[in-house]
Amino acid sequence: MILEINNLSASVEGKEILKNVNLTVKGGEIHALMGPNGAGKSTLGNVLIGHPDYKVTGGNVLLDGKDITFATPEERARAGLFLAFQSPVAVEGVRISTFLRIAYSNLHPGEKIVISEFNKKVKSLMKTVGLDESFISRSVNDGFSGGERKRFEILQMMILKPKIIILDEIDSGLDVDALRMVAEQIRSYLNNDVGFLIITHYQRILKDIPPQFVHVLVNGTIVMNGDKSLSDKIEEEGYDWLKEVA
Ligand code: ADP
Ligand code: MG
Ligand code: MG
Repeated sequence: MILEINNLSASVEGKEILKNVNLTVKGGEIHALMGPNGAGKSTLGNVLIGHPDYKVTGGNVLLDGKDITFATPEERARAGLFLAFQSPVAVEGVRISTFLRIAYSNLHPGEKIVISEFNKKVKSLMKTVGLDESFISRSVNDGFSGGERKRFEILQMMILKPKIIILDEIDSGLDVDALRMVAEQIRSYLNNDVGFLIITHYQRILKDIPPQFVHVLVNGTIVMNGDKSLSDKIEEEGYDWLKEVA
């Protein structure tokens, strides 16, 4: 699978945030998108998953050559793009088990799901990601802590088996052990048909998941592309030197 972002510009609330962003993520690759606070990193994530508040004003997004610039979030998910739940309000009151089953069956229409077996699998994956079994009957977004929410994102990835995975600040609110678990699951999920775009402000998670490609977003524009050494440099020197480049 290949995700191509071509000259993408986007606005939110009438304000232009992204300007001519170019980025390609192929199966087998791990990309890190870094940048200072407010650079537009989450905006790019939101545009890619089709969040309705974010308007594309130029350029396009292709998944395996298919134009998904204006596709619905459901169409994107079916095409293989990973969506962690973005509008939790809409699923309030829905149990985790039901939520996952509906999401899974939307992606695999026609496949017969035996509920008891599906739940068994969910429970075993909950153990893997460090969520208590009792979570299975809790409601989505029902008072999850930041760390629990992140663990649940990884669980969704493992159940839904997307091809292009965008993780926004997956490292925020996680302690060192949780971070290690997340990194291990990401590494073991990676294969030649799966690509990751890891959005992060900090360099920490990239120690456990070394990216082949690092991109730096400043003021809505990618100002530099490099390899792992670019994230090392950012750890040492911060972002200020890049703001001057921009
Ligand atoms: P980052 O993730 O790099 O910290 P964001 O994409 O969250 O940056 O934000 C980039 C800019 O877009 C900021 O100025 C932010 O205030 C603005 N922005 C993002 N989302 C919204 C929104 N839903 N409504 C209004 N402004 C937004
Ligand atoms: Mg931010
Ligand atoms: Mg952000």
